[in-house]
Amino acid sequence: MSKPEMSRLMPVEEAMERLMNLAAAAAITERETVTLAQAQGRVLAQDLVSTLDLPPWPNSAMDGYALRVADWTGEPLPVSQRIFAGQAPEPLQPGTCARIFTGAPVPDGADCVEMQENAEVLADGRVRLLHALHRDQNIRPKGQETTVGDTVLQAGTVMTPIEMGLAATLGMNVLPVVRRARVAVLSTGDELIEPGQALGPGQIYNSNRVLLCSWLEWLGCEVIDAGILPDDLDKTRAALGALGDVDLILSTGGVSVGEADFLGHALREEGEIALWKLAIKPGKPLTFGHYRGVPVIGLPGNPASTLVTFALLARPYLLRRLGVQQVRPLSFKVPSGFVWSKPGTRREYLRGRLEQGRVVAYRNQSSGVLRSAAWADGLIEVIEGTTVAEGDLLNFIPLSEVMG
Ligand code: AMP
Ligand code: MG
Repeated sequence: MSKPEMSRLMPVEEAMERLMNLAAAAAITERETVTLAQAQGRVLAQDLVSTLDLPPWPNSAMDGYALRVADWTGEPLPVSQRIFAGQAPEPLQPGTCARIFTGAPVPDGADCVEMQENAEVLADGRVRLLHALHRDQNIRPKGQETTVGDTVLQAGTVMTPIEMGLAATLGMNVLPVVRRARVAVLSTGDELIEPGQALGPGQIYNSNRVLLCSWLEWLGCEVIDAGILPDDLDKTRAALGALGDVDLILSTGGVSVGEADFLGHALREEGEIALWKLAIKPGKPLTFGHYRGVPVIGLPGNPASTLVTFALLARPYLLRRLGVQQVRPLSFKVPSGFVWSKPGTRREYLRGRLEQGRVVAYRNQSSGVLRSAAWADGLIEVIEGTTVAEGDLLNFIPLSEVMG
């Protein structure tokens, strides 16, 4: 590709920046309250602030004996009480120790816990502690996890099982969350039929529909599955008109150059649509526009292109609309297990995986081959204009980073 042609392609970072700005301008701010059990995958609508000191009192990190360091002389001490988790102890009598179990409150007057392995219980019930003691040893201090007023989780956090566990430690059983995004999914193309039907001449099964609908559900969206749109203007108009109230229209196919552009035509009648030619492979053509004020993202139709552009562009856009700040997938540098000798004009996202500490790419990187992604554990980023020798460090984005 010649230089001027290259410069017409929009770099991935620029597309990302544009999408982030568009998303911020169309933020979904309506909120609702859900129970903790219903909060999985939802986006917190406000900071979670602790109303508790946790733990509320110093407690024992060990099964053993609580005492005052100053009372230790190496001589045996009588045991004045037994304290289990869930009990409220009496203040410690001077010159004694208390039998104590993990998680039990440390009694007032005690300032250390010795583990039972370092104690010798005598026939008369007294206990000899074998080693010198330090103040605060084996005591989990009050407020070690949180103190009253701490912001424990920020608005915009996605509730995974970990955040749900944390909310539970704070005693919260209802949470303010952003309402779910409503996303309509359209698959375009006369050649498409649904799995379960017999293939006719020239037909292929619609893979993008189930790929995107199930992915969106994993992301916590409400999915409006609008099925297959034939390459026909009237039917396209009718399908768009029937979508109802949605936050995003996500289509696949129909954006390749030279195609009879029915979706684009119908969208332009009631909005606008721009074709972005991205410096990304797979997935060069992407459209962004509005239909009756509703944002529309048109992903390229080849399944691997749909996957890569959804993962890297549409998914972060959608999450940002919900107020999520951390929308970029984590990636890490891994040595290459392959050679890339021809610099590309677009940033390539090879479907690949780790083998013996090196990333290797699936043998067929055609954008029509979804098996590449099923074989892969992640996307290997090869920057435009560069070559790669074995052992060079490449960015690897695990697919698990973008699936949830
Ligand atoms: P298009 O952008 O409509 O020209 O589609 C590009 C390629 O992706 C063509 O080979 C289409 O047949 C294929 N394709 C489009 N939509 C889908 C779909 N939903 N499922 C599987 N393949 C598709
Ligand atoms: Mg098509």
